[in-house]
Amino acid sequence: MADALLGPAEIRELAARLGVAPTKKLGQNFLHDPNTIRRIVAAAGLTPDDVALEVGPGLGSLTLGLAGAVKHVHAVEIDPRLAEALPATVTAAHLTVHNADALHVRGGDFDPAPTMLVANLPYNVAVPVVLHLLAELPSLRGGLVMVQKEVADRLVAGPGSKVYGVPSVKLAWYADARAAGKVPPAVFWPVPNVDSGLVAFTRRTPPGDIDRSAVFAVVDAAFAQRRKTLRAALAGWAGGAARAEEVLVAAGISPQARGESLTVEQFVAIAAAAKLSPPGGKLSPSDTQPEEVDS
Ligand code: SAM
Repeated sequence: MADALLGPAEIRELAARLGVAPTKKLGQNFLHDPNTIRRIVAAAGLTPDDVALEVGPGLGSLTLGLAGAVKHVHAVEIDPRLAEALPATVTAAHLTVHNADALHVRGGDFDPAPTMLVANLPYNVAVPVVLHLLAELPSLRGGLVMVQKEVADRLVAGPGSKVYGVPSVKLAWYADARAAGKVPPAVFWPVPNVDSGLVAFTRRTPPGDIDRSAVFAVVDAAFAQRRKTLRAALAGWAGGAARAEEVLVAAGISPQARGESLTVEQFVAIAAAAKLSPPGGKLSPSDTQPEEVDS
């Protein structure tokens, strides 16, 4: 029989038995509301053939829900006490516990290969964890993560939004992301002093065939000084404002524009123009724009 989901009494009892005092440093706020667990599992769009990757299983609240929905669960937990105790709570055989830092796991650590990331993430490392896992695990077809509401808003923001920034563009490089609802503080123990939000994402074909790190270097430079025009903001990256202007013009983007108005495809066009246009050389926008593909 499947293990039952954990409510407030079970969470308190489990934590007391394990001698766990939740720490802020590791973002330990545990879910104690079975309805929220059911909601997350349903919103994730899992199929029975999926292999779920959960970062930070904690006391196992979400792990129990996932184990009932997919053919395998990988749970990556940094806290050795929690990692060690998890198999006693989630007795399903199709669970692999990894006592590891999610920021340092590698693709080869997981067999079978994870197809969906579903997690109530430790909030202080949520963005780097999502980006690291998308880079490291091409097998991930998508996911659903719970993060601090402000971070959720940033991750799904589009060009022109006040909160559009590095996390938005980098996630957009990997995936189509959308907001999937808000979660109130009361469903956690201890109760955090922030609201939480769900972000769903589906992996996409990477925009353009320019190296990801070259594109991300442009994104980092553009947003490091987000109030400046791209001509000024990209001067350091390009090797001077004149060269930045030359690259921007070659990419078909106004040197007076700001990073916050560009789509991920436009950042790709800038990286492509820098690669293709020799400094001081002449290059027209048509040389750097992705070609139309007949379907
Ligand atoms: N999934 C559980 C739940 O919903 O009740 C716990 C979520 S709690 C917000 C975050 C969990 O991530 C904690 O168990 C914490 O120990 C773990 N954690 C923190 N940093 C981590 C890291 N870098 N890698 C893996 N796990 C981490």
